[in-house]
Amino acid sequence: MHVRDETCGAGAAGGVTSSDTGPRTESPRGDSSDFDGPESLLDLVRRRGLGAQDSIVERIDAAIDRTADHGDLGSLFTTRAIALQGQGDATESAVAASRAVAFLVSAGRIEDAAFSSALAAIFLDQSGKPIDAIDRAVDALVLLEGVDTVAVDGRLAMSGVRAALALSGFFMRLSAFDLAVELGRRAFLAGELDGAPFDSIAYSFGYICVEAANVSDDVARRKQYVGEAVAAADWLATHGLDEVSRSMLAGGLRAETHHVISGRSSGMDDCEHLYLHAAEDLVAWHRLVRGTDALLDGRHDDAIALLDAAIPGLEASSDNHCVVRALRRRSQARVLAGDVVGAFEDASDLAERVRGWQVAQVGRLAHQLARRADLERSTTELRRLAERLADDVDTDAMTGVSSRRWLERHLDELARSDDSGATLMLDVDLFKIVNDTYGHHVGDEVLGVMGSILREETDDAALARFGGEEFVVVLPGLDDHHAHETAERIRRRVESHEWDTVAPGLRLTVSVGVSAGRLRDVRRLLISADEALLDAKRRGRNRTTSALARLFD
Ligand code: GH3
Ligand code: MG
Ligand code: MG
Repeated sequence: MHVRDETCGAGAAGGVTSSDTGPRTESPRGDSSDFDGPESLLDLVRRRGLGAQDSIVERIDAAIDRTADHGDLGSLFTTRAIALQGQGDATESAVAASRAVAFLVSAGRIEDAAFSSALAAIFLDQSGKPIDAIDRAVDALVLLEGVDTVAVDGRLAMSGVRAALALSGFFMRLSAFDLAVELGRRAFLAGELDGAPFDSIAYSFGYICVEAANVSDDVARRKQYVGEAVAAADWLATHGLDEVSRSMLAGGLRAETHHVISGRSSGMDDCEHLYLHAAEDLVAWHRLVRGTDALLDGRHDDAIALLDAAIPGLEASSDNHCVVRALRRRSQARVLAGDVVGAFEDASDLAERVRGWQVAQVGRLAHQLARRADLERSTTELRRLAERLADDVDTDAMTGVSSRRWLERHLDELARSDDSGATLMLDVDLFKIVNDTYGHHVGDEVLGVMGSILREETDDAALARFGGEEFVVVLPGLDDHHAHETAERIRRRVESHEWDTVAPGLRLTVSVGVSAGRLRDVRRLLISADEALLDAKRRGRNRTTSALARLFD
């Protein structure tokens, strides 16, 4: 609806009923005792009609300088945003609101952050940055979604209600009606549950439902929206704070629903005596409703006069949906009154506006799509990076063979198979001496060469570094005899390798333990291969021992 109302949500009571803003405008935490505290400042700003006084911003800035608490800073920047907006500085307001979001998120005050993010969206939109505005609105939606999981009973606290309401208005202006209604409903229901819904919440929700019903092609949905608008009107009629709410707003909403359903005049009250006490945008809207009512009643001249008076106010509230409705109605009224030229002017004005509006909306949509594509691309890249990182973890960097981590997973897989096969446990002989004699860097290089030799000799067998200078090879389908042959081939290859190229005089051998059997028991096979390896060491190293052979010793 009306920008000013949205910016302060609950403070929209200021728009609905100019008489009473104080008691009903709740601070984000609702606990303001210290006058200089951020919450009471927020109230102060609201009480003074969104304060045009420099002194308020100065006092907020002084308070900002005094505190390091992120929660307080968040509240103060929110207050600063609202105060600056009162001075007509939407750009600075957007900056302050965005800063508030960061502080509030870091303080864990998610609902307050959602509200500030919604404010930032509205201020950005006002300062001619619709695309950034959408980003902030989406942030606010995401924050608000998160609230559902943390809020007691899934209900919104006050700042969540204000966030939902502000977002609802924002998305309605973007013609995202279903989303707007959903958000408005959340605010309305939360308010009612608390037993203290604000007039502005009820009015905003009803108003959004009417707009949504006006454009909806879906009969069932239109019915639902009309029903909800009636509920909001009923609430205002019975609980409204004053006559503006109880008569003007409730009556206007009821007339609107009547128009949507029947296409006929509702014989609504004019309420003109209340116009002095109501905010301008509300008066403009009420005139639009009355103009429509007059047109449907065949009173063309009254309709034209009312719409003439309504249109500037509607334009000022930057609500395109209402402006379009008003121009369309006036064009119809002018035709019926015989003013074809005037009707044509309205019709072409209407066409031009709708066109410009469409271009802007489609442009935003296209931007969102591009962003989504960007996001998709970056997530694909992230996925690739993640795969590469996983690869790194699965591969041992020094030797180029699989890592222990990979081996553990592979062993689990093997344990589910029905195949038989063999395992080799392989350990470099007297490796400590290599390190001690040539230094660790040579030891590392040796391990690298060992990895290459093993990879060449084991083809597509599973090969992993078990730890230190120990390696494991799993050979599916090989029996003890053939596994022993493979182990011997590796052992001889290591023994005959020209280790001089790594370090002069270097000689190196390995010992291998072999164990064959059912791969289902692969972990047991590894243990017996390790025992066989120890046996090989005991027998003097540089040899292969099989677990099977040990049984016959
Ligand atoms: P044995 O024939 O009984 O296996 O004798 P060994 O010296 O190989 O025995 P031990 O297992 O006690 O020593 C292994 C050494 O390998 C000890 C450790 O410092 C070294 N080592 C383990 N990982 C690395 C590594 O990544 N780089 C280097 N340079 N040395 C390593
Ligand atoms: Mg060793
Ligand atoms: Mg060892």
